Amino acid sequence: MRLIVQKYGGTSVGSPERIRHVAERLVATQRQGCRVVAVISAIAGVTDSLLKLARDVSAQPSERELDALLATGEHAATALVAMAVNALGAKAISLTGAQAGVLTDRMHTRAKIANVSPKQIHELLSDEYIVVVAGFQGQTAEGETTTLGRGGSDLTAIALAGALNADACQIYTDVDGVFTCDPRVVPDALKIEGIAYDELLEMAGAGSKVMQSRAVEFAKKFGVAFEVRSSLKPSVGTIAQAETANMEDVVVRGVSVERQQAKVTVTGVPDKPGSASRIFSAVSAANILVDMIVQNASGRNSTDISFTIHAADLPKVEQLLGPVVGDIGARRVSAQSAVAKLSAVGIGMRSHSGVAARLFDCLGRGGINIQLISTSDIKIAVIINEADVDRAAQLAHEAFGLGKQARVRKAP
Ligand code: ADP
Ligand code: ASP
Ligand code: MG
Repeated sequence: MRLIVQKYGGTSVGSPERIRHVAERLVATQRQGCRVVAVISAIAGVTDSLLKLARDVSAQPSERELDALLATGEHAATALVAMAVNALGAKAISLTGAQAGVLTDRMHTRAKIANVSPKQIHELLSDEYIVVVAGFQGQTAEGETTTLGRGGSDLTAIALAGALNADACQIYTDVDGVFTCDPRVVPDALKIEGIAYDELLEMAGAGSKVMQSRAVEFAKKFGVAFEVRSSLKPSVGTIAQAETANMEDVVVRGVSVERQQAKVTVTGVPDKPGSASRIFSAVSAANILVDMIVQNASGRNSTDISFTIHAADLPKVEQLLGPVVGDIGARRVSAQSAVAKLSAVGIGMRSHSGVAARLFDCLGRGGINIQLISTSDIKIAVIINEADVDRAAQLAHEAFGLGKQARVRKAP
């Protein structure tokens, strides 16, 4: 008998009607002769409202209590889905992450999955239950509740599919699949049929939040192929899987944007060993994630170092770097918020040249100034003004011939 893991995101359970629709889909899948595990997110907006409530009562809520609070969002949604399935005359039972056997490390609010022991799920499946698991949460070896970082229900689904050796893992969401760019940014974007883990990983890391990047990392590591598809339409979605031979034929698979970035530049950094380390040690000691790092070619024994962070971290970084700049003998720190990152991603870049030139050319012709550039073997990313990012995404999308329009033009 086939075993299917289906994950439903927040908007897919966003109203009683949608919850009933999810229940119908689960029951229909069981009636096709499958064993069904559902992974459910909190109802859309609930996690954000709980976070806001926490900040309304405490300037710095403890991460343990935040996890205890946030886990309730998924608890509620899971119980509602199980009730809706029962109301259709089928058998369902809701489980917390802990009951589902999701064991994590102790890193509250961004815990990593250490192990999954789905013994109880197997037993319930044998008893013909549809097993409805709360996404985004787990438990430490000491029995403490943890959460897996924003978007973490994706990770729960992939990890359970891996541990249960599922025949299929389907991620149901509010778009038809993974698109060549966020369809809310580029309406001309096209659904991608097949995507390599590495491409989706780079796109997710570059701001395409359709999948949590840690979930894609996990899928790649354990070889869990999955499909991203619509919970509202019956159409086939996007298959994410290990790279296949013909995937490199497409040079750029997609374009991603990430807003709310800030750029920090330390000028006049003494060109000697240890200077960069002092700057980044101070930032990482405060648990702040640094994204791009660019160092200029040095001249007259000093250099400039720029890096990007999330805009929310800027006040803290400026405060931290003030004394460091004095200590290492650098000239000054300057910062710019309201910048964004635009990335073009594709494994075809490994074997095709001219991608950077084409990206820079389309931005240049659009009058969009590039402030920083970084590359990996399958990605080119630039920092630009946030106000330009939608237009830049449309230009890049067009320049790489990714949209519906380009397909129409290419057709004989
Ligand atoms: P869920 O609640 O189902 O987990 P998310 O909001 O986390 O859904 O992810 C789906 C959203 O991701 C879409 O509504 C879309 O706006 C956004 N998105 C960003 N980039 C892409 C992309 N390249 N393809 C599809 N959707 C994207
Ligand atoms: N509810 C959590 C969030 O909003 C987890 C998820 O939706 O995947 O981030
Ligand atoms: Mg999500």
